[in-house]
Parts: sequence; structure tokens; C-alpha cells
Amino acid sequence: MTATILVVEDELAIQELIALNLKKAGYLVVCADSVGQAKKMADSVLPDLVLLDWMLPDMSGLAFARKLRQEERTKDIPIIMLTARTQENDKIDGLEAGADDYITKPFSPRELLARIKAVVRRRLPELSDDVIEIGGLKLDPIAHRVRAETNEGNANKSELPMGPTEFRLLHFLMAHKERVHTRTQLLNRVWGDHVFIEDRTVDVHIRRLRKLLEVVGKEHLVQTVRGAGYRFSVERQEECIESKFPS
Ligand code: CA
Repeated sequence: MTATILVVEDELAIQELIALNLKKAGYLVVCADSVGQAKKMADSVLPDLVLLDWMLPDMSGLAFARKLRQEERTKDIPIIMLTARTQENDKIDGLEAGADDYITKPFSPRELLARIKAVVRRRLPELSDDVIEIGGLKLDPIAHRVRAETNEGNANKSELPMGPTEFRLLHFLMAHKERVHTRTQLLNRVWGDHVFIEDRTVDVHIRRLRKLLEVVGKEHLVQTVRGAGYRFSVERQEECIESKFPS
């Protein structure tokens, strides 16, 4: 899955240069030249990451970063601050406002991409291209493949035929293993929060995913946690995994 990056930068030459490099690297890019415009864009489509200039015409990038952190819908979005300032105090202010990283202008496209990649890997592992291997399942995001070890110690691995939604769902769960996710969280992170779908859709796709995993005896990895949500775990669950998600 491709990450959508919101670039907030009022110097158009820099904005264009950043957008060009990000698009070349395969990201989806939306640009804003003020905080007001950035807010409007984030209201319609929630970005996966925000690249935020410090000095903007209507509000400082720092104040906007604090605002994003305060609101429930945007509080988890990774933020990378861009600035011409080099003083140590500014850097600390930026990090205290909730920025994940900090890039000082002028920067090279290579540095920019390396920093974005590091933040994506750390904060949005479900959008990273890294192969994930847990509990005898191996998920390869680039090849869009899931393979399972059919037997302990058996090199023979079988590929699971997976639809795009089941693949994204499994990728998200594996990337955030041993954590419980509510249906709303799964809808927002796997389907996107601007898409209107009923909560029950999650249950339907979880059921399909378990059916696929059942073929290779791995359905126990996707667990229902009563009253809370779903989780991917290598630890066997005491309660029955077939139990219905409570309404
Ligand atoms: Ca600026």
C-alpha cells in the first residue's frame, strides 16, 4: 500500500522539488502552502504522514503540529518538520510539539527520502516494503505474496491466494502484532477513514482471512478479543477464537 504524504510548504520551488522526489519514490503526494489549506486537505483525506514547514504565512508549523497532536483523528499521524533554523532550542521545540523527526534546510532529496523511509518503517510498518515473517507466515509486500510453512521443519512452503483487502488486513495485523485493534481502528487504517463502510465489514473480512489461514492450520494467529477487537498473536488463546465479536 502506498503512503499519502501531505507537504505543507509555502515556498513553491521547494514544495515542487519535494513533491517531485516523493512521487518518483512512489508516494502519493498532496501539497498545501498554508495551514488553512492543509487543514482542509486533511479533513477530506487523512494523510499517512505530514511534512511540515516551520514558517508558514497563516500559522507556524509548530502550532499546527500541536493542533494535529491534540485532535483524536490526527493525533497519530507522523510529522516531519522542515526548517531553515538550526538552533538547538528550535529542534527541541519541534520534538516537544510531537514531531517525529526534523530536517534542516537545505537538504538533499536523498536525505529527505531516507528520513521519510525511517519514519514509515517505525510508525507505519504496514506501509513499509519490508518482508514480515511471524508464526510460520511470511508476507512479502512487494511481491504481494503470503506463504505458510506447511510443516515444522519442512522447507516446503505453500502460497495462500489472497484478495487485496485480506492482504492489507493481514499486513496491518502482522505489522502491529500482539496488539488489539478495534474495528474502527482497523477501518481507519486498512480501508481509510474517508471511506464509508460499516463496522461489520471488518468482521466479514476477518472471517475470510481466517478461512484462508485455516487451509494451512494458521487460523489461530488471528484472534478475537472479547469486547475489544482483533489481534495477531503467536500465543495460543484460551478462549474460543470462533466467538462472535460482541456488538
Ligand atoms: Ca516557509
